[in-house]
Amino acid sequence: MTMNFLDFLFPRRCVSCGKLGGYFCRKCANSIHFFDEQICPICAKPSIDGRTHIKCQTSHTIDGLYSAVYFKDAIKDAIHQFKYQQISDLSEVLAKILVYKFPTHLIHFDFLCSVPLYRSREKERGFNQSFLLAKHMGRIWGIPGTDKLLVRTKKTVPQADLKKEDREKNVKDAFSLSRDINLTDRSIGLVDDVSTTRSTLVECAKILKRAHAKFVYGIVIAHGS
Ligand SMILES: [Zn+2]
Ligand SMILES: [Zn+2]
Repeated sequence: MTMNFLDFLFPRRCVSCGKLGGYFCRKCANSIHFFDEQICPICAKPSIDGRTHIKCQTSHTIDGLYSAVYFKDAIKDAIHQFKYQQISDLSEVLAKILVYKFPTHLIHFDFLCSVPLYRSREKERGFNQSFLLAKHMGRIWGIPGTDKLLVRTKKTVPQADLKKEDREKNVKDAFSLSRDINLTDRSIGLVDDVSTTRSTLVECAKILKRAHAKFVYGIVIAHGS
């Protein structure tokens, strides 16, 4: 087997078990568990196409949620390495997993907007993982990805470090529009890597809907606790 020079310099290992060869070995790739049924982003009960149930809607509610896979096993390891070991290459692989699950975007989006990081956190990490994902998905779907709509105005604690009941409070009023924009008639896909309580997506969607967005759908690679 000939190895290309880059692989020789930077050998790829399975994100989960460490086997040499690629970011997912066959065994760990087979452990990835896709969602059969989508859920309502508000009550987390089954819902067709992840649409928010009518009874769950209040004012400025997110319209729905697409989740590709369960947040566990190899995917949990992949997202962890992507974010904390700064393996930004993984964004392309993760975006492909989502596009595999949703080959055609079921709804027309004008933009894919990433969930923003607080400025100092993005600096520290060197990238916003959600924006990288939005860009890769956008390239495949032919939709522009943007990180210019929203800003995080509060330095929140990472949601993963909090108990479920504290997560909603943590992100409350943590976001705002980056500038005075009117999103009338715009349909927006709101992209994040992982969601557990969906509070971040719900909060970001609220800001976009207040700016008159017609339609805001969450799009996450992984969902789970
Ligand atoms: Zn493996
Ligand atoms: Zn519901």
